[in-house]
Amino acid sequence: MSDKKLHTLTIDPEFRDLIPPLNDDELTMLEESIVANGCESPLIVWNGVIVDGHNRHAICQKHNIPFAVTEKEFSSREDAMLWMLRNQLGRRNLNSYQRGELALKFEPLIASASKKRMLAGKAIDPPQNSAEGSGETRHQIAKIAGVSHDTIKKVKKLSESADEKTKGKLRRGEVTVHKAYTELMQKEHENETRVCDRCKQEKPVAAFSIPSNRHGFSSLCKDCEKEISAAAKAAAEVASATTAKVETHPVNGMAMLNGAPIHVATPLPDEPDMLPHVMSTLETAAHSFLATVETSLRLMTRGIATPENLRIYEEALLSIADQAHELFKNHVKEIEKR
Ligand SMILES: [Zn+2]
Repeated sequence: MSDKKLHTLTIDPEFRDLIPPLNDDELTMLEESIVANGCESPLIVWNGVIVDGHNRHAICQKHNIPFAVTEKEFSSREDAMLWMLRNQLGRRNLNSYQRGELALKFEPLIASASKKRMLAGKAIDPPQNSAEGSGETRHQIAKIAGVSHDTIKKVKKLSESADEKTKGKLRRGEVTVHKAYTELMQKEHENETRVCDRCKQEKPVAAFSIPSNRHGFSSLCKDCEKEISAAAKAAAEVASATTAKVETHPVNGMAMLNGAPIHVATPLPDEPDMLPHVMSTLETAAHSFLATVETSLRLMTRGIATPENLRIYEEALLSIADQAHELFKNHVKEIEKR
C-alpha cells in the first residue's frame, strides 16, 4: 500500500458504470466523513485503473484530500469486473432487486466464465443451449447476488420489461420484486383467460395469483385457493381438537399411553395425589414380572421338574418377592429420615 497523497489514477468508464451510483444521502454521508476524517481505507487499483473507490476518488480530488492506493492483480478485465461485482455485493446494503439487477449485468461475464469451466470439464450442469443461458449461469448469478433462483428470473423480467417508474420504486425498496413482477405479468396478460384446474371455469388472468416462490401463474384460481386454504385450516383445527392428549405420569421419565409405558420427562410433585401413579407403575412392573415368570414356567418341562429343582425354583421366586419387600422397607426408612 502506498503513502497517502493525491495519486493520479485512471478511470475506466466501463468499470465506473458497472456499479450502481450511491444515492444522494449516501454520497453526502461519504463526503462529510472523508472531509472530517480523511480517506481512511485505500483505493484499489489494477495497473493504475480504479477498481474500487470511484466515489472516494472524486471526493478526494474535489477537496484535495490525500488517499492511499493498493494494487491488486487480475488475470483479465473480466476477472477484475467479477471481483468488483462481488466486492460491491458484499459491502453495500442493497435490496434484492438491486442485487439481482447488478448481478445480471455480469451475465455475459459469468456465462463466459462458466463456459471456460465447462470446457475444462468442471461444469456442474450439463451444457444447455437455451436462450436464457445455461442453468449453471443462472445458478451462479443467483448465488453471487445472494437471492433465490426464482427471484433472479423475476428481476430479469422486470429489468427488461418494467417501466422506469417501477424500476425506481424497486431500487428504492418501495415495492417488492414479487409484487412488481405480479403486476407486470397481470398487465402483460390482461386480455387473456385461464382455465382453473379445480373448478374448470375460464377466468381472466387477474383471477389467478403468482405463488411467491414461483414465476408463473397458479393453476388454480384465487377463489379455489381460498377455499382450499380454508378447508386445510378447518382440517388442522379438527385434527388438533381430536388428537388424544398424552396423559403424563408424574414420575420422571415414565408416562402411560393407552395402557403402555412411554418415556417422557416430567417433574416429580411431592403430593398424596401421586398414589394412583405409583400404583400404575407398580402394576406395570408386576404384570411384566408375572408374564416373564409364566414364560419361565413353560420352560420347566416334566423332565426337569424334580422335587429338588422345583424347590430351587420356588425359593428363587420367594427370594425375589423378599427382595422387593426389602427395597420397600429400606425406602420407607429413607423417607422417614428426610
Ligand atoms: Zn377455480
